Amino acid sequence: MEKEVLKINVAIMGAGLAGLAAAITLEENGINPSIYEKRSQVGDRFFNCELLLSVLSKPIDDAIKYFAEEHKIFLQPQSNIRKLIIHSENNSAEITGHLGFTNLRGRAENSFEKQLEKQVNSKIHFNSQKSYEELLHAYSHVILATGDATYATKITEYDVDLTVTLKGAIIDGNFDIDTVEAWLNHKFAPLGYSYLIPITQQKANIVIAYPDYPENQKYDINKLWENFLDEIAVIIGQNFKMKRDFEVTRYIIGKSKYPRIGNTFLVGNNFGSIMPFLGFGQVASLLTGIYAAHDICGLGDYTELTSKLVSSYHESLTLRRTLEKLDNAKLDILVKGLKGKVGQKVFNGEFNYLKLISKLLP
Ligand SMILES: Cc1cc2nc3c(=O)[nH]c(=O)nc-3n(C[C@H](O)[C@H](O)[C@H](O)COP(=O)(O)OP(=O)(O)OC[C@H]3O[C@@H](n4cnc5c(N)ncnc54)[C@H](O)[C@@H]3O)c2cc1C
Repeated sequence: MEKEVLKINVAIMGAGLAGLAAAITLEENGINPSIYEKRSQVGDRFFNCELLLSVLSKPIDDAIKYFAEEHKIFLQPQSNIRKLIIHSENNSAEITGHLGFTNLRGRAENSFEKQLEKQVNSKIHFNSQKSYEELLHAYSHVILATGDATYATKITEYDVDLTVTLKGAIIDGNFDIDTVEAWLNHKFAPLGYSYLIPITQQKANIVIAYPDYPENQKYDINKLWENFLDEIAVIIGQNFKMKRDFEVTRYIIGKSKYPRIGNTFLVGNNFGSIMPFLGFGQVASLLTGIYAAHDICGLGDYTELTSKLVSSYHESLTLRRTLEKLDNAKLDILVKGLKGKVGQKVFNGEFNYLKLISKLLP
């Protein structure tokens, strides 16, 4: 009798950043996964513009170059960030240099997820209603890439460190395509942050994001939003028109205790890719997808490969907890301190100052 050969067949649940990065890497190594996406197309969610900031992804300085050269994953950003203006209530610091990139997400034609989809040959099963359990029984390996912690909390211990409310909109006006503005100001983002990312010279994405802590429940989101719009009007000095807006509630920032359970790999936000300090998760999401694929292909051990991301997560959480202790007066001092050479060094230098600071904090 012929021996039955045990075959590796991989299901990827979720065709977002982590899932598609996993698919590209598996294909590169000779495995064609089956991809299950619950929506009717890749990126079928609200349109927004996100950031890749070098200072937050050290030692990776240039994420676009890194993914192309090291992992054959090719991404085109929307623009290069050459200026970052950080505002507090009464201060502003301008930092210049090659600071990172802006990139589109969601429904935009050139969103990162749509760019990744073009690099995948395997079939994507859209409108999927397959449960994790069904996939687990049908495949030798499952990559859980659903972009939320629903399954992660079901199948492993998942520490939720905070949840965040985000409100955003696309506005019309005149913008410098290479300048991003960020605010640390409790008047519109209590214990959180706000930002303006240009999409084109005529369009920008504005967002406020703040944690859902009990002490923040007293705030009315519409009032905070109005305060932010007033600030935007003053800062950009124009009457702008607001277009599409979106709201995300209880966005989970947390980490699964185990990155791998049996032959299931938790990737992207299921793994704990969102760095709690300022909510950045794109680089870590792509990396976890790549690392899960490497493990399945025998090129490394997922737990070991992701160990640096786990350390980064904890350092980032320490920075967040410290930021939360600062009232507007202290944030003014912080932003004042970032003016001039200090800010330039922190954002442009080779050295990972944020890591050092997080290590020095109690
Ligand atoms: C408003 C906002 C702004 C952000 N800004 C930044 C930023 O500037 N910089 C940054 O680095 N990060 C940012 N982030 C975080 C970043 O977007 C995420 O970390 C990243 O997208 C997570 O990638 P992922 O692959 O885990 O999930 P996603 O890319 O969201 O993909 C998950 C996919 O799984 C699908 N799915 C869900 N459930 C199922 C199911 N049951 N079956 C099948 N498919 C399913 C979804 O439809 C989706 O296609 C932001 C997040 C938000 C919400």
